[in-house]
Order: sequence, then structure tokens, then C-alpha cells
Amino acid sequence: MTDHFCGTCNRLRITADGNIKVCLFGNAEVSLRDMIRQGKTDDELLEIIGAAVKKKKKQHAGMFELASRKNRPMILIGG
Ligand code: SF4
Repeated sequence: MTDHFCGTCNRLRITADGNIKVCLFGNAEVSLRDMIRQGKTDDELLEIIGAAVKKKKKQHAGMFELASRKNRPMILIGG
């Protein structure tokens, strides 16, 4: 947390229930399961994933609100 290395972070997780998280620290998730069930093509899924990745923060956003923010515990993220 002392260095702002988020700009070069390549962490992504797909949760067991089909959500993609582009940041382990953030609580934003995109449901790929729902997109697949809606019949999105592989190219459309790539666009959705790419758009999510582009929303990665430059640095630890909301670090001081971490304790009060809702997020999955790491055991459910797969970290
Ligand atoms: S806070 Fe998020 S973006 Fe930053 S290094 Fe951790 S997982 Fe990557």
C-alpha cells in the first residue's frame, strides 16, 4: 500500500459464480455468466472484459474506506 503499482497491475479474477473482478481491492464486478446466458459472442465478451480492464484504477482508490466498503472476502475472490 506504500507504492502506487496499480497502473501496472495485471490481476484479474473470475469468481465461482461467473463475475469478473479487475481489482481484488475494489468491489466492482461484471457478470460474465449473465452475458454468456444472454448469448453474447466471444468478440462481445472480449469487448466487455476489455472495458472492465480499462476501468482499473491508477492507484488504490478508496483505500481509507476499505473497512466500510462491501467486498467479497479474499477466500471468495480466489486470491
Ligand atoms: S489494488 Fe487492485 S489494481 Fe491495485 S494492485 Fe491490487 S488488485 Fe491490482
